[in-house]
Amino acid sequence: MERIRLTERVHYLHGGVNSGLVETEKGLLVIDSGLDRSAANRIVRAAEELKRPLVAVLNTHAHADHYGGNAQLVRKLGIPVYAPAVEEAVIREPRYEPIYLFGGAAPIADLENRFLQAEPSPVDHVVAPGTVITIDGTELEVLDLSGHSIAQVGIRVAGVLFAADAFFGLEALKKHRIPYNVDAEKTRRSMERVGETQADWYVPGHGEALQDPRATLTENIDVIDSTMRWLTTRLDEAPATTDDLLVSMAEFFGLELGNPTSFVLYRTTLLGYLTSLHRAGGITARIADARWLWAGGF
Ligand SMILES: [Zn+2]
Repeated sequence: MERIRLTERVHYLHGGVNSGLVETEKGLLVIDSGLDRSAANRIVRAAEELKRPLVAVLNTHAHADHYGGNAQLVRKLGIPVYAPAVEEAVIREPRYEPIYLFGGAAPIADLENRFLQAEPSPVDHVVAPGTVITIDGTELEVLDLSGHSIAQVGIRVAGVLFAADAFFGLEALKKHRIPYNVDAEKTRRSMERVGETQADWYVPGHGEALQDPRATLTENIDVIDSTMRWLTTRLDEAPATTDDLLVSMAEFFGLELGNPTSFVLYRTTLLGYLTSLHRAGGITARIADARWLWAGGF
């Protein structure tokens, strides 16, 4: 985990997941707090190095690896937490994530793990996309980057766009093959929005900060487009259940669904594609013989 200065007032801690550090009037604002207590402690050490007190934490979305350090920061420093509407509910009640990934039922214990459920954190301020907020004298623009999660935001401040998981660095993209999303079409639109947003630096949640994100965005968009094409072709051939499609998708794209956690993550992602195709009128859903069938061919 190293601290990298991007512009005069903006740094990021580069690791498995990135955290932003923004110098405000009197201190330092954290954008996303990492997975857990030790991530929070690394943020505290970075603030000590910069000789600035942490003044607040701002979360882009409610995935454990982005808000998991909140509880420790709040415990140690009593700083306020800012988070987008909807996402803030899961940050306060993290058990909602394994619940929604398990279709709303009480999840089996395997899904109540540290990657899907971090320590709960209070949320003091709800931020809305399309607004400019001020934290300790610093203006931050809140952008709608929904799609990866239902109400994810990006933050533009002092020449840097913190894009959260709106797009992935190439290494992370290669690893996941089809990155998690809950709405493929909105994810694609958010990727385009990142490309249209002026900044000196673009920081993804996973991967290195980029001065020119165009090539990386293109690869991310290609993944969505090729998955959409594959699904459309597959459903034009014959109707299929979600589970049928998941098996074919795993085979075709070489996805690893070796445990309940990655199974539900990829299944949700598949549903995020199917919702998008359904909304566009390209496929239908019907129930036949107690099976949920998706069908194309229009
Ligand atoms: Zn995420």
